[in-house]
Amino acid sequence: GSEDVSSRKIDSPKHFGGLLAAGFDEASCLSRYQSFLYRKALPHKPSSYLLYRLRKYEALHKRCGPYTTSYNKTLEQLKSSHTNDPLECNYIVWISFSGLGNRILTLASAFLYALLTNRVLLVDRGTDMTDLFCEPFPETSWLLPMDFPLHQFDSFDQKSPYCYGNMLKNNAINNSTGSLPPFLYLHLVHDYGDYDKLFFCDQDQTLLRKVPWLIMKTDNYFVPSLFLVPSFAKQLSHLFPEKETVFHHLGRYLFHPSNPVWGLITRYYHAYLEKADERVGLQIRIFDIGTGPFQHVLDQILACTLKEKLLPEVNVKESIIRPSANKRSKAVLMTSLSAGYFEKIRNMYWEHQTVNGEVIAVYQPSHEEHQQTQKKMHNLKAWAEMYLLSLTDVLVTSSWSTFGYVAQGLGGLKPWILYKPENRTAPYPPCRRAMSMEPCFHAPPFYDCKAKKGIDTGALVPHVKHCEDMSWGLKLV
Ligand code: GDP
Repeated sequence: GSEDVSSRKIDSPKHFGGLLAAGFDEASCLSRYQSFLYRKALPHKPSSYLLYRLRKYEALHKRCGPYTTSYNKTLEQLKSSHTNDPLECNYIVWISFSGLGNRILTLASAFLYALLTNRVLLVDRGTDMTDLFCEPFPETSWLLPMDFPLHQFDSFDQKSPYCYGNMLKNNAINNSTGSLPPFLYLHLVHDYGDYDKLFFCDQDQTLLRKVPWLIMKTDNYFVPSLFLVPSFAKQLSHLFPEKETVFHHLGRYLFHPSNPVWGLITRYYHAYLEKADERVGLQIRIFDIGTGPFQHVLDQILACTLKEKLLPEVNVKESIIRPSANKRSKAVLMTSLSAGYFEKIRNMYWEHQTVNGEVIAVYQPSHEEHQQTQKKMHNLKAWAEMYLLSLTDVLVTSSWSTFGYVAQGLGGLKPWILYKPENRTAPYPPCRRAMSMEPCFHAPPFYDCKAKKGIDTGALVPHVKHCEDMSWGLKLV
């Protein structure tokens, strides 16, 4: 509705069902305290077991965080060639890698892995992690210290000597002798091999448990496959009785826009979206080569939104203005690297009256033309746009795009997914409704760890299915 955000009473962050911890300085991260003002109340509540585990995690992170005695002790291990005694604090280091949507999904995956394995998550700051997000855990930091002895994460790859899959392949790691290295690199990037994929086997998890430092590089939301690891499955069903809410809850818990990003979000929201009766998000991401806009993509967007009645048809035949009692307004928030689709759709609703009299306003915050990695404002805007999309009431997303997954998950929205066009033609049907709000794992393993043979991992349990937008992907439903 057109309820005025500023008229709602500011309440404690307890608003997300107790998801957020106390103990933060409010001014340092306004979004943590204000975001609930912009979000609809949803039926999905975090389980009390998840809340319990988050509070336990926060205590662990505080005890083991950078420069604590326990941290220093585990750090000592890196100087020795192998590890022996069990330590109080063990770590998973997340390497900043790939586009921002990918990074948000992988960070949530790494955090869930940390929860499941009682590790402490430390974040490689890359070029812009500190500009984009607030600290999620109270009275400590999730940032990997600058003086951490291992660096040059860019050079870590499948062939690195400490890559777990590589060591398995070369028989360089042995569980039975009891001698394990103090750190291992986990290569979970989409190009990973069969040995790297053994990460998703219980037997390998038993070994990994004894390694104090795990360094992880991934560009995939690997959570669905964690649900297929028997030793994790039970915990996971307690943590998330509603399976499709994993990223929804973890995302809202972890990712608080920094103050500069929160400024971008709130100024835009108040200027363009707040007053509308309904907000419709249209996320357009084209993976085709060549410069758009493409007619077939425009055709597809219109075919989907009109067929599914997300937007009204326009009267192209008559130019007479009919008085209409219907003054309902919709604000359409488009995001895309190019401005072409936005201009066409905005003009369509400017040049013609809608058949039902609805007033349609079309907005697009930016058109950055191409993906950029080093420009600071570029990623601030990308994050703001994902977040703004998550504040819409109805969402249409593009296939294969993690940018869209982040928006749907944070928003708790089941989007209409535009099928990926093939051979430059609009597919039919143009789109379908998502089964769940969860992101898709694009490169899952297809391996039965017990039988040691290939298997369809999308057919094992009812809550892990193949994705709508990628037939070989896996998602929670
Ligand atoms: P994916 O490639 O769609 O899975 O999403 P990612 O976020 O991982 O990578 C795409 C990157 O391209 C983003 O992080 C942005 O830098 C940029 N990008 C793609 N689409 C948009 C858009 O609609 N708006 C903005 N501002 N940037 C975009």
